[in-house]
Amino acid sequence: MQEKLKEIAKKTEGSEFYTSFPRGYKPGKTKYIITTGSVISGVGKGTFSSCLGSMLRMYHGLNITPLKFECYVNYDAGTLNPYRHGEVFVLDDGTETDLDLGTYERMLNKSLTKNSFVTMGRVFKTIIDKERKGDYLGRDVEFIPHITGEIKSFVRKLAVESKADILMIEIGGTVGEIQNSLYLEAMRELAYEEGRQNACFINVTYILQPGSLGEQKSKAAQLGIKALMSVGIQPDIIICRSEKPITEKIKEKISIYSNVPVSRTIGFHDTRNIYKFPLTLKEKEIDKAVLEILSLKPGKSVPELKKWKELVEKIDKAEKEITIGMAGKYTNVHDSYISILKALEHTAPYYNASIKIKWIEAEEIEKGRVSVKDALKDIDALIVPGGFGKRGTEGKIECIKYARENNVPFLGLCFGFQMAVIEYARNMCGIKEANSTEVEPECKENVIDFLPEQKKIEGLGGNMRLGSYPAVLKKGSLVCGLYNNEKIDERHRHRYEVNNKYVEQLEKKGLVFSGRSPKGNLMEFLELPGHRFFIGTQAHPCFKSRPSSPSPVFSGLIKAALEHSQKKST
Ligand code: GLN
Repeated sequence: MQEKLKEIAKKTEGSEFYTSFPRGYKPGKTKYIITTGSVISGVGKGTFSSCLGSMLRMYHGLNITPLKFECYVNYDAGTLNPYRHGEVFVLDDGTETDLDLGTYERMLNKSLTKNSFVTMGRVFKTIIDKERKGDYLGRDVEFIPHITGEIKSFVRKLAVESKADILMIEIGGTVGEIQNSLYLEAMRELAYEEGRQNACFINVTYILQPGSLGEQKSKAAQLGIKALMSVGIQPDIIICRSEKPITEKIKEKISIYSNVPVSRTIGFHDTRNIYKFPLTLKEKEIDKAVLEILSLKPGKSVPELKKWKELVEKIDKAEKEITIGMAGKYTNVHDSYISILKALEHTAPYYNASIKIKWIEAEEIEKGRVSVKDALKDIDALIVPGGFGKRGTEGKIECIKYARENNVPFLGLCFGFQMAVIEYARNMCGIKEANSTEVEPECKENVIDFLPEQKKIEGLGGNMRLGSYPAVLKKGSLVCGLYNNEKIDERHRHRYEVNNKYVEQLEKKGLVFSGRSPKGNLMEFLELPGHRFFIGTQAHPCFKSRPSSPSPVFSGLIKAALEHSQKKST
């Protein structure tokens, strides 16, 4: 196999082969699990792939790194509307990605880099930039071998960078679409070049069960898998997603159609507790199949596994339920707040609690269609999440005022932090016209403003503060206690900041900026001494919250919410 690879690499220049091998690439060192989807999208290909990675990591100590190939031509996910596409997830290095990367980070307990997220736009841009530099030496640049070659380059570069034992490659979309055909072709080539013992293809399909028939039907899945085989990819394992457990008959039908043994045709019906999924995958012995296909020996489990199992048990045995109010404007698209929901979901079990979300449409309050008291009276804590633009802002400010005055635990995230500053300026400092220049460009009291140094950067996304930034926490403050540290890092995604001109005035009236940038010029955290729990942060701590290490501010919020709920009932 290695000889074959070397031969291909040698031939690359001036031949029909176009396969670049990054420096330091050792064929066979990294194995590849390539996950594709069939029938319909949105059945949890990413969830499956991240949970499989999580299981292989926890039970066999394998170093797993994911790589998501997106079909769309946007360069990254930064300009996507959360209404259409769900949350934009931000990595430490500032890359704006799809929410799936959040699932990978949480399940793999690992921070990823921009090289784990590649869109078709990024592939095209790389090629056109190279072509303009004259890198293709007079050749016509073709879909095959150049685009597929470039896709394989992304794969192998990440293999070297991550030193992974296994790269979990997920191909966006479903097989049979024009959009992902280049990715599929590249994966076929990759498996050919690397050797079949180094690549494992998994297809996640869907078994329909039309209500009118009441019976499971496998035809759509069969056709989907056939589409995969028609591009030269033989799946090794088939995952059948379904609403209810699949029958033996369905497995047999799929198996005979796809050359995949029944033992490797595995059903997964919908489950509530996603953290249980890696354990279920182990029970179904998928690791055995994967290790066999990839010629890998079983390894030792990692210590984190014990903690993970405890967490799963606690989720099922939650003793109390607390209600968290979320005041935003995309409340009918829950995926736009997925990291917040996940942070709450994996933090609550540590307090034997489960979470119920009450969605509060801020615009309804703003327009006076719902009173703030009615909206907030039965919640145990309030979150005002990130957001952009004017709509709903006055409603959010009203909610924050209510939480502040009624001792309701409050967490303001990014835009929510900015709204808390505006609320305090207006109602406690008498700065009646306080606002953000994002909401009211001509406002006289711009307590939240666009930083002058950011104005210079042109283009969409270019002028945002993106990625992980340090903050220095004030000794003795609530946040400092929660983090148990004075220097921390959290991820950011915003343009506007607290205007320093107003900091003194706000602090004089009791607001404490308990976290600042190391230079002291950017306000990162605020809190209100004397209040049960009132914290705002310019960052998005939910992005770094993991099942095994929940975010300190979310822990603090849930603890305070429990206390608040007890007070209410006594
Ligand atoms: N719109 C605000 C800003 O750009 C907040 C952004 C956010 O909440 N992510 O600063």
